[in-house]
Parts: sequence; structure tokens; C-alpha cells
Amino acid sequence: MNDIYLYNTLSRKKEKFIPIEEGKAGMYCCGPTVYNYAHIGNLRAYFFEDILKRILLYNGLQVKHVMNITDVGHLVSDADEGEDKMEKGARREGKTVWQIAEYFADEFMKDIKLLNILPPTLWCKATEHIEEQIKLIKCLEEKGFTYVTSDGVYYDTSKFRNYGELGRIDIEGLEEGKRISFSEEKRNKTDFSLWKFSPANRKRQMEWDSPWGKGFPGWHLECSAMSMKYLGDNFDIHCGGVDHIPVHHTNEIAQSEACTGRKFVNYWLHCEFLLEDKGKMSKSAGEFLKLKSLLDHGYSPLDFRYFLMMTHYRKKIMFSFDALDSARNGYRNLREKISEIKSKVTEKDIINDTNIRFFGRKFTDCINDDLNITEAVAVLWETIKDTNLNASEKLNLLTDFDKVLGLEFNTIPAGEVEYEIPDEIKLLAEKRKIAKSEKNYVRADELRRLINGKGYEIMDTKTGYEIKKIRNSI
Ligand code: AMP
Ligand code: ZN
Repeated sequence: MNDIYLYNTLSRKKEKFIPIEEGKAGMYCCGPTVYNYAHIGNLRAYFFEDILKRILLYNGLQVKHVMNITDVGHLVSDADEGEDKMEKGARREGKTVWQIAEYFADEFMKDIKLLNILPPTLWCKATEHIEEQIKLIKCLEEKGFTYVTSDGVYYDTSKFRNYGELGRIDIEGLEEGKRISFSEEKRNKTDFSLWKFSPANRKRQMEWDSPWGKGFPGWHLECSAMSMKYLGDNFDIHCGGVDHIPVHHTNEIAQSEACTGRKFVNYWLHCEFLLEDKGKMSKSAGEFLKLKSLLDHGYSPLDFRYFLMMTHYRKKIMFSFDALDSARNGYRNLREKISEIKSKVTEKDIINDTNIRFFGRKFTDCINDDLNITEAVAVLWETIKDTNLNASEKLNLLTDFDKVLGLEFNTIPAGEVEYEIPDEIKLLAEKRKIAKSEKNYVRADELRRLINGKGYEIMDTKTGYEIKKIRNSI
């Protein structure tokens, strides 16, 4: 196996990846809370996890990838306060929480399929693992990490040595009422609920019996319980977005390690945020961009995938339609080049292993250096433009690279250029048609030249005309 280096949030360093079991990798990714569609920021996180998984696979590892579906309502704030997200979502849609959970989980799966994100080896739902979660609370209770208040069972973070290590949390410096508000009964500002009691005067749509009373689990609990169930007490990789570092993942570590007495996860990986110019993407703010919004604007899911590749996962992305446009052009251009390469492949091509190894090595060096996919795309272009490689060698390499990139090069037909005619060109073509119908041939010719100058040609047909892009050779 080639060496793979990953930036571990826990050590704040790039570390060589050494799997617990040789040749295998266990990976847990926090999945969606299914009370609404995923926004394009969430999708960045799943894309990053997909690239990570594909890189592990590319290096010959057998990957067990587990993703949860948070279908239990948890509360809007990290401080265990506010409204239940699922119940709020259900009210908005006029459905039950169970119905919206199913609907949005389905929509999520459709989104990731469109983005060519490989499905996890195993999906697990929080509502189907209540027993495991109760068992974990019991374990923590036996070891003295819990206390009961009037609204639930809480985790006493002061009892856990190294609490907040992952996020380098300055416990003393936490401002009350800011990120973590402080209820009278909580012993420490960072304490969090393991089990919340149902309100005495109201039946919740989702609630379960427990040794402490009817209620529902705290939202950090499911990931500890399910990841350990499927991957073991100590496993290789856990990922998510950076927002999960200070609270969710910090609390997962506290819960799991307090119960098992072992290190929970060896490598923590987090992707930075995708932001809109107006700031953080937020579902609670109402309108937000989802994959469907991009498709409605005429972009393909893979235009967005290519767009996400333009930035390293540990850097913020400022989303704009202009930036998406340039990624779309880049991706179209790429497809055209690949189409041309495919049309040039002949049986006479001799595959030179040294050539293949040289470019293959370059590509692997990028991806194995903490997922440097941006540089890997540069190597892809270098391969395409290389003047020594023949078409078969190029195709061989590109097909191999696509195992990591997931840009569906296999769907590109040979020699058939795929593109969309820009609106501006369509308009000029229409104007030319009108000029012709008015027998203004001088104007019609002028328009034809203008269209040619912009890289398109127009051909008259029996029924009207056809526009084609003028192809450049590689
Ligand atoms: P959630 O459904 O809020 O739990 O988020 C699902 C995943 O998306 C988690 O890994 C989050 O850390 C991640 N995430 C949330 N917002 C963004 C964003 N704007 N950019 C990138 N990742 C995000
Ligand atoms: Zn989680």
C-alpha cells in the first residue's frame, strides 16, 4: 500500500494513515437530519467524505463506511434547548415526523446518487437504535458520568479528563449564554443531555420508555452508539463538517471513551464550510440552495461536483453562480477533450507502462497528500495535454483517475461533442433567421461571422438551422 497522509483534527497534524486492521478501514460519517432537504453546504461534506472513501479504495483498502440518518428530533440549539427540528419540520409540511423522516431520507439518497457519491456500506437510523443508546447511558450511569435534572439525564463533562481536546475548547473561557447557555440545573456549561424527558402535558410524536422516564435520546448519543456497534469501540476514521468539532464530536468522544475506557477514533477529518456571500447557509433561515435549485438553473450535478473539486476540503468555499459557471465550462471542456481522446484510440496504440506509471504516480502523490484533489485535477489536465502519450495511454490513465474523481468519464461518447449552446448564440442565430426571412442577406452574413467569431458555426437545414461548436484540436 502507498502511504496515505491525512490531517487529523485531534493532533492538528498530517499523519500517516495506519489502519487498525491491515488492508481495511472503518469510517463513520455523520449523516443528515431528515427534517428538510440537504443544502449545498451539507452536500460539500458528503462529497469530501466520498473523495476520502474513494482514495482509500483506490489504495486497495477495503472500506466499511457507516452513515447514520438522524430521524429522531433533536433540539434546534446545541444547548439542548429550543424547538424539536423534526416536529417543526413535520408541522411545516403538514405530515407526521415519521413521514417527513422517510421523505427527506429518500430525497437525500437521490441527491447523493446524482452527485455520484458512493453509498455507504451501511445506513443506520437513530430510531432503530434506541436500545443501544439506552445501553450506553446505562454504562455511563454505572461509571458515574451522569446526573438527572427535571428535564433529562445529563452528562457531567467535568468528570471526563481531556473534555474538549478535539476542539481545543477553552472551558473556562466559554461565555455564558453565547454558544452554550447555562440552565440552572446543569452542573457545567458544557454538560449535555443524554436523554430528554417528554413534556408532562404533551405527547410527543416520537418518544420511548427508558429506565429514567419516557422521552427521547440526546442527539450526540446516536453517533456514539451506532458507530461503536458497527465499527467497534475503537475505529479508524470519523468525519463531518467543521461545525461538528466543538460540540457534536467532542461529546461523542466524551460519551464513548467514558464508557469503554478506550480511544474512540484514531483519525478525525473535518471539511470547511461552503458559504454564500450572505454568510452561513442555514436551513432554519428558510430559503436555502439545494441540489435541486442548481438543477433548476440548468446545471448538472456533475458540474457541481467539479466545482467542489476546485477547492481543497480544508479551505472555505464562497459559493457564487459565477464560480459555478466557470466550473461548468471547465467540466464541459474536460468532457470534450475526453470525447476527442476516445475517438482517437486505435488498436495500433502501444501502451508504455513507464508512461502510465509516471502520471499514475503523480496523481497518487496528490490524492495521498491529505486529499489534494485540486492538484490531482491539475495532473488530469496535464495528462490530457501531454504530447507524448497516445490516446490509449491517456484513456487508460483517465479511466483510472476517475475512480477517485467520480466524474463519470465512462458516460462520455467517443467523438461526439457534448455541449449546450449559450443563450447569446441562440439569440444571434434567431436574428440571422429573421434577417434571412426578410431577405437581408448582408445582415445575415454579418451575423454568421459574429457567430463564427464566438466559436460556433451555423448550418442551414431543411427545417431551419443547426448550431455546432467549432472544435479545437488538443
Ligand atoms: P447536519 O444535517 O446539519 O447535521 O449536517 C450534515 C453535514 O453537513 C455535517 O457533516 C455538517 O458538519 C456539514 N455541514 C453543515 N453545513 C455545512 C456547510 N455550510 N458547508 C459544509 N459542510 C456543512
Ligand atoms: Zn454524528
